[in-house]
Amino acid sequence: MLQRYNLGAAVQNNPNTTLVTAQAPIAAETHGGRAKCLQRLVRLELPVPRTVALSFDAVKRIAKGELPDIAAIVSQFPEGVLLCVRPSSEDPDWGGPGAVLNIGMNTQRCEALNERLGETAARAIYTRFVQSYAVDVARLDPDVFENVKGEGAEGLSEALRAYESELEEPFPANPSDQLAAVLKSMARAWDGTSARLLRQAKGAPADAGLGLVVQEMALGLGQGESGSGVLQLVDSDTGLPQITGRYLSQSQGRDALEGDAAALYLGRDPRGPSLEELAPEAFNALKTHAGLMRSKLREEMQVEFAIENGALYILDGVRVARSSQATVQIAVQLADDKIIPRAEALMRVPPRTLSELLHRQISPDAERDVIGHGIAASPGAATGQIVFTAAEAQASAARGDPCILVRRETSPEDIRGMHAAHAVLTERGGITSHAAVIGRGIGLPCVVGASNMRFISSKKQLVTQDGRVFSAGDVVTVDGTSGEVLAGATKMREAALDEGFQKLMDWSTEFCDIGIRANADTPADAQTARNFNAQGIGLCRTEHMFFEAGRLTVMREMIFAETSQDRRAVLERLLPMQRADFTQLFRIMKGQPVCIRLFDPPLHEFLPTDRAGQRELAEALDLPLSNVTRRIDAMSEYNPMLGLRGVRLGVTVPEIYEMQARAIFEASIDASDAGTPVEPEIMIPLVSARREVELVKTSIDAVAAAVRNEWDRDFAYRLGVMVETPRAALRAAEIAPHCAFLSFGTNDLTQMTYGLSRDDAGRFMSDYVQQGVFPEDPFHVLDTEGVGELLKIGAERGRSAQPNVTLSICGEHGGNPESISFCRDAGFDYVSCSPFRVPVARLAAAQLAIGGNIQ
Ligand code: PEP
Ligand code: MG
Repeated sequence: MLQRYNLGAAVQNNPNTTLVTAQAPIAAETHGGRAKCLQRLVRLELPVPRTVALSFDAVKRIAKGELPDIAAIVSQFPEGVLLCVRPSSEDPDWGGPGAVLNIGMNTQRCEALNERLGETAARAIYTRFVQSYAVDVARLDPDVFENVKGEGAEGLSEALRAYESELEEPFPANPSDQLAAVLKSMARAWDGTSARLLRQAKGAPADAGLGLVVQEMALGLGQGESGSGVLQLVDSDTGLPQITGRYLSQSQGRDALEGDAAALYLGRDPRGPSLEELAPEAFNALKTHAGLMRSKLREEMQVEFAIENGALYILDGVRVARSSQATVQIAVQLADDKIIPRAEALMRVPPRTLSELLHRQISPDAERDVIGHGIAASPGAATGQIVFTAAEAQASAARGDPCILVRRETSPEDIRGMHAAHAVLTERGGITSHAAVIGRGIGLPCVVGASNMRFISSKKQLVTQDGRVFSAGDVVTVDGTSGEVLAGATKMREAALDEGFQKLMDWSTEFCDIGIRANADTPADAQTARNFNAQGIGLCRTEHMFFEAGRLTVMREMIFAETSQDRRAVLERLLPMQRADFTQLFRIMKGQPVCIRLFDPPLHEFLPTDRAGQRELAEALDLPLSNVTRRIDAMSEYNPMLGLRGVRLGVTVPEIYEMQARAIFEASIDASDAGTPVEPEIMIPLVSARREVELVKTSIDAVAAAVRNEWDRDFAYRLGVMVETPRAALRAAEIAPHCAFLSFGTNDLTQMTYGLSRDDAGRFMSDYVQQGVFPEDPFHVLDTEGVGELLKIGAERGRSAQPNVTLSICGEHGGNPESISFCRDAGFDYVSCSPFRVPVARLAAAQLAIGGNIQ
């Protein structure tokens, strides 16, 4: 019979090898998580077999050959029992060497067990121990036991003989010798290079310690109902209450050690009687213990247990393994049950797990036939037929067929195709390329920079590195979460925006102390932003609006206008369309701030690049083709991202900004009439000099005065500057007095600080990160040293010149937990990110406010 704890046992003198009692000096930082957990179970007065915990220090010394007092350890246990040793690392996720069971087995104890359990079971235990000791401790090749026949008398002698002949010494019979060898072998395994690398990959520090626990074996064997298993109170997939687990009964007319054939299930299972039926008392006790562990350890635990002759033993407890959905559900339920405070529930959910819940994902157990990979630019996964043009994507959507848009890279012309596709795959581009930004904005799975696949657009083929060819119409799956492209369809797991998620978001809002806005260009984006409780729109990129049906030709006409007067005339036609766009956005956002960025890209992005398109344009404008091609050639630039775009257009072609400003003001009057008053925010892109702001401000103020006059209405608006050139950051002190807000556009600011094209960086970024040139892709994780210094300089200089200036960030970094931490420390008022990243940003910000580290 196992000895239970004498709870009054004296605290051991030696903290390095201590009996686990309620008062023993045991901590996760010195003895590991398992030892600490077992102590908690002892404190709860659960039936835990006697256990001795060895500290990290003790194990370190063992690895160096300095053994602890083995006799003292053995003397903690009743004479003649078998022991097991298990690892106890500080964080259970860091792993450790496998457990070794049944230590102490020898001929004498085998005979004693014969009497209790019968010959078969006793010999089987012995045979297994010899083999596991030989392989795990003496490091023999498992092949040595290839010819051992079963676990009967013959098998046992063969195993012992095989051991002896390999090692030229008899199998150690002395239990203390066996224990010493096990401890040595486990301590050394932890020090091995591969074990070290493995745990470091899971976030363990280089010098992470290992504790060991030596526990009296509960064999789960006996004349009455006996067996062993695990039980948990929730489903690992959903996190919802559901008793699950597994129980292996040895009493069900089978050889107790013959594995899974006689597995019995805890619940009512057609394959055999449940534990509840076999041992109702033990089952009820087990449920009560599991409930107690949940409330006292403040966590959903999986209980490892054994039953001997109907008596229950709790061997261990580990955190229930859980999916992202279950992570949220469990944390929320523990808080709802008042087991943990809400702040702690928020701290328990790593922000990035939320992005998995927002999208369909490939099921973790799905088979993956990977045919290529690139940068995981927008999370979620989708399956569909390959299409190579935006028009084909739209046609496919019209037929109701899911499709994957495959492009060398995307441009604003592809927007409608992207909306029609289920996922996008590009050969070129980085994390802030067009496809990536739009993909994240509309929640479309996206892999960019898949340069290990060849995109042969002329043949409409995709060729993989190993020569497999995929043509238009073939089915592939794009996994924007991992960056992989798979052949064919795969098993998916649906998005899970359930009640638990909603509660977590509401609680995050209570704690958040930095604003979270969304980058939203369309009414659909704005609606998503509202659904995720964004506190306004931080960036509306207006250029996308000009690609909509019916507008592109007018836009091109405007670009081709010869005189300012002609240009104004064409813009008059665009005005009502823009006004309608903005009215819709203002109405959806119901009085929340909406920050509209004036036109940013170079105009030639709107012109056709191919012959057919140019011919169509010539027809539409009633101009000779040669005239059209000449004008297009004349407008092309060597380096468009550094050319005539942003505020430079605003200064040289002021009519566009004037039309946009008028549309914004008129829309705000419209929307204010229909609901909450709107105070629009207007943002000037790509500023690098104070004079640019002065010029644009003068012209917009004039438009405002005209609109006030014409409409006989007063209204307020806020004018701001996008700080996305290094010079704007450095000269923030002279820019800030002219504006109400400074919003840092870290995409362009990163591009210009590094002198690194955001559209081409994908080609070599992984080499750069692998070789340690950059710690991370700076377009993905804010470079706090370089770009960050410019942010700090800009913020300090801007604030010192204009203390009330609102500070924010609206580049893609705005949704990144580490960047939010930086912005919060620098005193920014809000961050703005893609609508689908708002939940991640909100939770990360709440965690920062609560004061913990982001997990
Ligand atoms: C930026 O440059 O950070 C930004 C938000 O603008 P865009 O990505 O449109 O250039
Ligand atoms: Mg920019």
